[in-house]
Amino acid sequence: MNQNSINILALDDDPFMLKLLVRILKNIGHNKVSTCDSGQAALELINNMDLRPDLILLDINMPRMDGLEFVRHLVEWCYSGSIILISGEDERTRQAAEKLARAHKITVLGHLHKPVKPEALAELIKKWEPAKNCIPRAELKIYSADEVRAAITNGELINHYQPKVATDTGQVKGVETLVRWNHPHDGMVFPDQFIGVAEAHGLIGDLTLMVLTDALSQVKLWQDEGLTLHVAVNLSMDSLVSLDFADLIAGVLEKSGVAPQILELEVTETRLMDDLRIPLEALSRLRLKRIRLSIDDFGIGNSTLAQLRDLPFDELKIDQSFVHGACKNKKLEAMFNSCLSLAKQLKMSVVAEGVEDQADFDFVCKTGCDIAQGYFIAKPMPGADIPAWIRSWKNFYRVSNRRV
Ligand code: C2E
Ligand code: CA
Ligand code: CA
Repeated sequence: MNQNSINILALDDDPFMLKLLVRILKNIGHNKVSTCDSGQAALELINNMDLRPDLILLDINMPRMDGLEFVRHLVEWCYSGSIILISGEDERTRQAAEKLARAHKITVLGHLHKPVKPEALAELIKKWEPAKNCIPRAELKIYSADEVRAAITNGELINHYQPKVATDTGQVKGVETLVRWNHPHDGMVFPDQFIGVAEAHGLIGDLTLMVLTDALSQVKLWQDEGLTLHVAVNLSMDSLVSLDFADLIAGVLEKSGVAPQILELEVTETRLMDDLRIPLEALSRLRLKRIRLSIDDFGIGNSTLAQLRDLPFDELKIDQSFVHGACKNKKLEAMFNSCLSLAKQLKMSVVAEGVEDQADFDFVCKTGCDIAQGYFIAKPMPGADIPAWIRSWKNFYRVSNRRV
């Protein structure tokens, strides 16, 4: 199918906007265009395989069924075409919606601000490719904001912990907290299936505080068993746009009785921020309270050099895509080494994530990177399993002829 013969559906509750979109599409050579002014009407089209569009231009803000709910139905109905999100909302909201749709495995070509510029729309449509086979429904369980909210209030979220070990001695330095949803019907649900929903619907602050509170209670339990471990909690930078969030974190920490130096916050930037002043202030205040800060997923996405320059990080985590296989791939190795050298020059501690096999581990240990983390060392596990795992790791490390 060539680009100009794709079936496009424009979905917007505003009739003027629909007319405008049809005119723009015609002008850029697309004539197979249908329109709908509600999600319900659009779903009827989607339900008919013969009428199913290849591309949907989707208005996020519609009365009754909004764009995010519509995306959920698309997944339920196994839609394998592409979408472009359109909204008058700010960049942040559009990016959150895009992230959410991608988390549901919908192909998103991009997002546009209203009023839509013809050149920008034409550029995005150029990215369109024929649909791949429909992904089986079972893999694509979708959760609504209400379900995620209920999971938080009903205590269905549980923490797992993945060890971080020193590359020179094998010593277990700490753990990273990774949240899971113990779903009453669906079993274990992974964060990629609900963190995006929590972020898009203003639930991420509550989720983080719950994860943090549980992680600190777990640290106390380990301390009672004579284990001192640093604990890292993931924080999306989105939470830091509200200034009192830093105080909330400090409050939870103080109540727990755990020393601030034990806590590490792994910060990922989920969107580009024009204004770093508010997160800068929040992070600086956390740093002043002696909480350690770590920049996560370094090298991909929106983690940038500007952040390293401006924000007070203690640790840098090299993204797993530069770690696994770096010993066999010159390009990856070069990227890994430059992240490492940059962090070292900035006097930061460096973690390699995604150490999946012996070759990765040997490579990371040789480079002078401080800490390794990944499936080769251990998968994330319930807190209660950590002490026994540490004993078996020490044995493994000893017999594999390394220094203990
Ligand atoms: P992340 O912070 O980059 O965490 C590492 C992810 O990689 C985890 O996936 C972990 O299980 C996985 N992983 C660890 N070792 C390996 C390895 O050797 N190979 C491969 N391929 N993967 C490995 P998980 O638990 O599914 O978490 C996914 C993401 O969800 C996390 O990425 C983090 O960004 C987010 N997340 C998890 N818990 C929280 C939370 O409490 N709050 C927030 N805001 N985000 C969270
Ligand atoms: Ca992390
Ligand atoms: Ca990471």
